[in-house]
Amino acid sequence: MSDHESRLEILRFGRMLHDRGLIAATDGNISVRLNEVSALITPTCMSKGMMCTEDLLVVDMHGRKVSGFRDVTSEIGMHMTIYRMRPDINAIVHAHPPTATGFAACGLALDQALISEVLLSLGEVPLAHYATPGTSELSAALEPYIPGHDAVLMANHGVVTYGCDLMQAYMNMETVEHFAKIALVVKQLGCERPLAAEQVSKLHEMRQRMQSHRSELRTRA
Ligand SMILES: [Zn+2]
Repeated sequence: MSDHESRLEILRFGRMLHDRGLIAATDGNISVRLNEVSALITPTCMSKGMMCTEDLLVVDMHGRKVSGFRDVTSEIGMHMTIYRMRPDINAIVHAHPPTATGFAACGLALDQALISEVLLSLGEVPLAHYATPGTSELSAALEPYIPGHDAVLMANHGVVTYGCDLMQAYMNMETVEHFAKIALVVKQLGCERPLAAEQVSKLHEMRQRMQSHRSELRTRA
């Protein structure tokens, strides 16, 4: 995908995040890895639903601005930490979806085995401890969860998701929020029946097979 196509993709998913209420005002940020040395990222202090291609910035893999007239998001460190730790990741979405962020503000991970297809497509969503936004402490809080998860709740803050491309990173965000809504209904009904350990391990095995099949297809392409 060219630089211009990646910019259009970021605009498209920024509008979707905004239109679906996963962010408000100037919340959130999106980035796409362009190549081994640079990434595209959304600017600070701007609605991610109302950007044009010129608003985006190119940064190097240390998060330093290479081009663009706006300022880089203060969450740049979180994005660069994920790219550094996960060479298979090419896009990152950070948002404040209301239900999932509510769980994060109550100190609750979304890691219960309630819905088979969530375990298949995303796996468990852990909760990273609180750290001030925009600091290296936030990246440090996420680090233990980055290798084994494609979505992490950040306590008293929001959610970060990532994937092999922006479509996958965005869909992971939708899945987290949808699952949070289901988990909330389960809590309200008060009679949850989580899957048994044996059922969960079968789903984990299927997920691993699906992941290795996908990475095989990507290697061939
Ligand atoms: Zn945030």
